[in-house]
Amino acid sequence: MQNNNVYEYINITNVINQLNIKKTRTKGNYIYAICPFCQSSKEKKGYLKINTISNVYMCKNCESSGSSIDLYASLKYITTKEAFKALLKESPVLDDRPYTYNNPVKDEYYRDIVYRQFLKMQDLKEIHYKKLKEMNFKNEYIKDNLFKSIESNNYKKKEICMRLQGQGLKLDGIPGFFQDTDFKWTYKSHKGMFIPVILNNKIQGLRILLDNKYELDTENIWFSSNNEYNGTKASNWPMILKDNKMNWIDMYNSNNSTSIIIATEMILAHKLFNNTSKIVVGIPNNIDKDLILNIVKRMHASEVFLYADKYTILHTSALMYKNTILALEEQNIKVDFRIALTETDIDSDLNEYKEHKKIA
Ligand SMILES: [Zn+2]
Repeated sequence: MQNNNVYEYINITNVINQLNIKKTRTKGNYIYAICPFCQSSKEKKGYLKINTISNVYMCKNCESSGSSIDLYASLKYITTKEAFKALLKESPVLDDRPYTYNNPVKDEYYRDIVYRQFLKMQDLKEIHYKKLKEMNFKNEYIKDNLFKSIESNNYKKKEICMRLQGQGLKLDGIPGFFQDTDFKWTYKSHKGMFIPVILNNKIQGLRILLDNKYELDTENIWFSSNNEYNGTKASNWPMILKDNKMNWIDMYNSNNSTSIIIATEMILAHKLFNNTSKIVVGIPNNIDKDLILNIVKRMHASEVFLYADKYTILHTSALMYKNTILALEEQNIKVDFRIALTETDIDSDLNEYKEHKKIA
């Protein structure tokens, strides 16, 4: 193995080639293949999704997942240590893969300008308006928070991008946008609604509330265009909802914000904010412990009301959720945690919370 580096031997592309796993298609940094564990009945589609950058695989059908070495070890019935040694003995077989370039993300000032103009060009469809009304949002709240449906017509999408460029705005470095095969700018569209993530008065990014559940049992994804030509990846930005009368500097310096609500998922955060006078922090449901600790520290909170939607506890985030609670308690911060499994849960919890605050 003198002439190759170790990475090439343990590269997942090499591992699937060594194991003769049948590939069905490739898209950006992903390879789709027939799952060797479940041989999924819909053979043509291939449920095994392989991420060639992070070197991991996951089957949407049987839910087996792991690293390249895990994959080799499981199929050869050997330990991962033995798998590592075995892989180093064979010459790596790597594919000629097109190189996808992802842009560095533009700063928050620029993103805010582009996203505000972009949202002006999106409508709010009747179906989404109704959905928001069912969640008890007033018209003014819907308008102020820029909730919009996502235009998905390919022709209209390119026209919207041309109008943005006509205003002198550049779309590289803005998550969600990319260049199509005809080199015209377009954006990723999904059936759902944009929920702008606002922090320090600026739209940091756009979270999407999907009409239908996504593959990893979530209703929420980022407006992001990594793995697309000239695309950009979104980060995990938090959102802070507060009274408009309170400015950001006062909020961070205030000693009064001793109790805050942190909610996993933006729409849940809005529902809670709509019902309380508290500061509500919205975070993506692939919850990040350090992100939460930083927010809590910055806001001088001594009590946290941590609220998760059902998707947070249905997948791997449950463990991160638990670790976050433990980490907060370690910092002597009082944590009250709730899980909203249904809409009724939110209502009854909120009433209880309001009652509790009245007594306190
Ligand atoms: Zn499978």
